[in-house]
Amino acid sequence: MGRKAIDIAKLDVEKLIQMLNEALSEEWLAYYQYWIGARMLEGPMRSEVEPELLLHATEELAHAELVVNRILQLGGTPVLNPSKWIEYAKCPYEEPNDPYVEVILQQNLDGERCAIQRYEEIAEYTYGKDHSTYQMAIQILNDELEHEHDIEDFLADLARLKEDIRKIRL
Ligand code: FE
Ligand code: FE
Ligand code: MG
Repeated sequence: MGRKAIDIAKLDVEKLIQMLNEALSEEWLAYYQYWIGARMLEGPMRSEVEPELLLHATEELAHAELVVNRILQLGGTPVLNPSKWIEYAKCPYEEPNDPYVEVILQQNLDGERCAIQRYEEIAEYTYGKDHSTYQMAIQILNDELEHEHDIEDFLADLARLKEDIRKIRL
């Protein structure tokens, strides 16, 4: 715990730690959603989508690492039991029970949009008050924006593929 770290934060540190624990829970769920989704995946473009989903999974894990380090610096206790992940997370875990590539991608897209909202919220809360957490939130936010864009591109390509096939049939 960094005593001075807590000292210089001009905000409610307890409230911030709670937000960070929610974000930490969301990152672990996002990690698993990508990781298991990549393995369930079926359909066109599988060979391109699968490695990208696995890469995103590792990036979510890296986010969890950044967030847990900040919780500890602020003297907080990171969520210690996975049973709390669902309880704390504001972004729902979407079970990949339909393996079709578009469905999996859409579930991950929903998750990314929720994550963007989360880091926007943390950035807003810490702006000008806790530079360190603010900088971390922006760093993660930039990754989440990239993730959203990657998935949107895949979905656009799949839609185009379907459209082209439809034209051939006509
Ligand atoms: Fe993330
Ligand atoms: Fe992400
Ligand atoms: Mg990517």
